[in-house]
Amino acid sequence: MLKSLSFTDYTLAELTGIFREKNFPAYRAEQAAGWVYKKLVFSPGKMTDLPPDVKAFLSDNLHVTGSIIERVFESKLDSTVKFLVKLADGNYIETVFMAESGGKSAVCISTQAGCPIKCAFCVSGRNGLKRNLTVGEIAEQILHVNAHCRDNASSHNVKESQSRPVRNIVIMGMGEPLLNTDNLLKALEIITAKWGLGMGLNRITLSTAICPREQLDKLVKSKLVPNLAVSLHAADDNLRKKLVPHCKADIAEIVRNAKWYRSATGKELTFEYVLLRDVNSSAKDAGNLARLLKRCNVKVNLIVFNAVKDSEFSPPPEKDVLKFQDVLIRAGIMTFIRQSRGQDISAACGQLTSSE
Ligand code: SF4
Repeated sequence: MLKSLSFTDYTLAELTGIFREKNFPAYRAEQAAGWVYKKLVFSPGKMTDLPPDVKAFLSDNLHVTGSIIERVFESKLDSTVKFLVKLADGNYIETVFMAESGGKSAVCISTQAGCPIKCAFCVSGRNGLKRNLTVGEIAEQILHVNAHCRDNASSHNVKESQSRPVRNIVIMGMGEPLLNTDNLLKALEIITAKWGLGMGLNRITLSTAICPREQLDKLVKSKLVPNLAVSLHAADDNLRKKLVPHCKADIAEIVRNAKWYRSATGKELTFEYVLLRDVNSSAKDAGNLARLLKRCNVKVNLIVFNAVKDSEFSPPPEKDVLKFQDVLIRAGIMTFIRQSRGQDISAACGQLTSSE
């Protein structure tokens, strides 16, 4: 019954149930989880304190990782590393690790293969949605990055906590996370649990382009509440419909839902805005955005468009970017220009695709 399922699809409570069904003591499940999530050992044969019958059960019935790293791309511009991950069914996703010293290292994970939102400037959505990622496929991206960095610590400038270098998670890779909320929530349980990856929710940021109240409500009820980043990209509905064509909500509803989430959780709220030349980056656009967000007490991240092949868009000149930021700051809105990482390996925002 379990064959071809992944160990990482299950919470500890579920694993314990599976182990009990096979008449293994419950504590063996936690021991196995310790090998996978703490020691990053994925081969049951190497889990030295498990008895042979438990190892054999794991080998025969539960893949520890269903996905594999197919290729690794290392940026020459900075310390960004992009992973092309092959899923068990042959689909591909990408995961990006941005290594930095001082505990700021972050991994950008995907939640879908492809994306149905089809933002006009983003490669991930060009071919639409292939499928939602499973719980295990979401969690395994962090395991893969941690294991890769442990094995290559010296070449990636990752000196501290070499066995588990991922300190922050941004759920901003391929896909719209809130269209795969149930699997994401279970993955967050594994990522944050003491028996799992043990990461704090304050170090996790979820980025959404659609911000639906119903899905945010699920997060709040589950108490698995990451920080929220809302990809806005326009301050008027006509333009946003062109840039984010498959979002049903209008801007007022998106802002309302985001503010509701913040007040329900006390989490950080950021709005993200990709700057596109002659599209949404004029001083007038900045004024519209300032009026929209003026009294919201939010942070804005400006992202200068990253060039992608065959795109109709281009980045605005630097003076326009600075002007845009200035208009927002003068309106009292904390505004940052986000530095793009890994552009030479197409690892920056809007550039992720299945490179295969
Ligand atoms: S920007 Fe995000 S939501 Fe939009 S198409 Fe790309 S992955 Fe999907």
